[in-house]
Amino acid sequence: MARLTGKVALVSGGARGLGAAQVRRLHADGAKVAITDVRDDRGRQLAAELGDAAAYLHHDVTDAQRWRAVVAEIADTLGPINVLVNNAGIGAPVPFLDTTLDFWQQTMDVNLTGVFHGMQAGIESMLGSGGGSIINISSVAGLRGSAHLHPYVASKFAVRGLTKSVALEFGKRGIRVNSVHPGFIVTELTEQLGTPPDVALGRPGQPDDVADVVAFLASDESRYCTGAEFVVDGGMSAGPVPRS
Ligand code: NDP
Repeated sequence: MARLTGKVALVSGGARGLGAAQVRRLHADGAKVAITDVRDDRGRQLAAELGDAAAYLHHDVTDAQRWRAVVAEIADTLGPINVLVNNAGIGAPVPFLDTTLDFWQQTMDVNLTGVFHGMQAGIESMLGSGGGSIINISSVAGLRGSAHLHPYVASKFAVRGLTKSVALEFGKRGIRVNSVHPGFIVTELTEQLGTPPDVALGRPGQPDDVADVVAFLASDESRYCTGAEFVVDGGMSAGPVPRS
């Protein structure tokens, strides 16, 4: 039996990039997977490719009202969720003094408030169906500063903290909450950012490097892990790499 057989997962922002790799990994490991995103074409295409054990639902994670409806729709079609991956996120480099309040707020709305809404809706459902695992995709930018990425850094640090406080409140009720901190991962978005930084493992990350950790956290193999940070950055945040 595959290790995620019997699990139902929701991956936000799952139509492309890291989210799509997570969807494929969770599905390959036996989970039923609901993909939510605002990229309807890509989301529908991925769900169709995966067949009956997958579904696509349009959902902007900042739409608080629709979170509960989305979770209920998934319960009707695939079953109640017991894995929630809050993956949807946005970010773009802007110097600090050029950062507008609108841009700040938009980043916070998606990266932080979207995770807040997702955890509320997910936990309400999980409490009624035997618990589950919540995986919040933060970043190495949630562990250290990054020039020109101020709202992104602030939102990802906040996700890391929120993960821990929610983990403390729901551990005894069977819900685990962890954060994942990818480094430089090659996606359509980061391809445009130029040369990847120097990392201890000597290569940029691939979406599957992150997806494998997400699958571990979704599975019962991570049953004693909660409130923890899982860094997937090839050693990027460990320190400078020696030249020789
Ligand atoms: P992508 O932009 O490649 O994919 C994210 C998906 O989420 C896109 O389909 C995007 O749609 C969608 N999305 C954007 N806003 C919303 C919203 N409000 N509601 C629902 N869906 C939305 O991003 P990545 O795959 O690179 O990143 C995924 C996560 O991983 C993010 O949280 C990111 O911060 C984090 N991360 C990524 C790293 C990397 O190197 N790629 C490194 C560290 C962390 P659209 O294309 O229309 O915007």
